[in-house]
Amino acid sequence: MMFVSNLHIKLVVKYFFICFFVIIAFPLINSAQTKEVVALKGDGIYRLLTRYGLSSAAYMDDFIALNKANLGKNNTLLAGVKYKLPDSAEASQTGGGSPTETKATGKTVHYDIFGSNYADVEIKSNDLKGAVYYLVGGHGGPDPGAVGKYNGYYVYEDEYAYDVTLRLARRLIEEGATVYLITRDKNDGIRDAVSLKADKDEVCYPNRTIPLNHVKRLRQRTDAVNQLYKKHKGSFQRMIAVHIDSRSKKENIDIFFYHDKRSKTGKKASEILRDTIEKKYREHQPNRGYTGTVSSRNLYVVRNTWPTAIFIELGNMNHQRDVKRLVIPDNRQAVANWLALGLISDFRTNK
Ligand SMILES: [Zn+2]
Repeated sequence: MMFVSNLHIKLVVKYFFICFFVIIAFPLINSAQTKEVVALKGDGIYRLLTRYGLSSAAYMDDFIALNKANLGKNNTLLAGVKYKLPDSAEASQTGGGSPTETKATGKTVHYDIFGSNYADVEIKSNDLKGAVYYLVGGHGGPDPGAVGKYNGYYVYEDEYAYDVTLRLARRLIEEGATVYLITRDKNDGIRDAVSLKADKDEVCYPNRTIPLNHVKRLRQRTDAVNQLYKKHKGSFQRMIAVHIDSRSKKENIDIFFYHDKRSKTGKKASEILRDTIEKKYREHQPNRGYTGTVSSRNLYVVRNTWPTAIFIELGNMNHQRDVKRLVIPDNRQAVANWLALGLISDFRTNK
């Protein structure tokens, strides 16, 4: 009898502790600057993150990094111990600058991922305020994608697509957008060089090793986008994959676009991008002509990501005029600027 009532008292005390925690501590935690929470008995990282509305896929790595010293064996949680929650704002989106929750025009935000010359980004407008972009540079990690040649050196699809993707990300942030770089390389940054050295250290958001297996690789980036999509449910969202095609030497294919055949918005957005590029070429090179197309295609990331998806091919890796657009840094910047203009117009039209 004694034993039972002792146990009973223990349970009552525990119950009160939990009630105290839920009723009193929870609001404090929600309004605190650095969010610290206490692990309950039986909590694992997954359960704790879920309780506070954080996707474990997106925040698991951040959580482990933040709380390394207080984790048990195999990253288990210790009941009663305080843990720091990763910043659910945009702190980790583009690579760990300062949180950008209150992005006021004129403010400068620092993102290491853009490299030392481009890390400081000034918010110039609110034109894309409320828009969320998932930018996926094609291939990366163990997969360089298509390989072309220019002036005797090799041109790797993943490096050039990534550089344009970074430039585009930076432009979108300047206009007030929330941007997630899904393919990321912590030491490349935006590179103003003709020859971009190939490496294999790209990771998938937030910091996952990119697998060699083709299907696993595509599934990994698709999952990363979809986890974040849930977090931003209700917002205007776009997944943008950036690639460089590989075709015969004769085919000058220009910048062209794919969308999912079921997605009317994807089609509309792609057409806006194509029309913007056409208009820009007419302004800058009136006699050039532009033949970029919009069509639907059954592509894994386009089909399986939940935001409206746009798949951009920046040109034909084997055509000299297309490659020239990619190897000259100013041309890569111009492409990014024009795509950003198109996306602003897509946001205005389709939000
Ligand atoms: Zn590709």
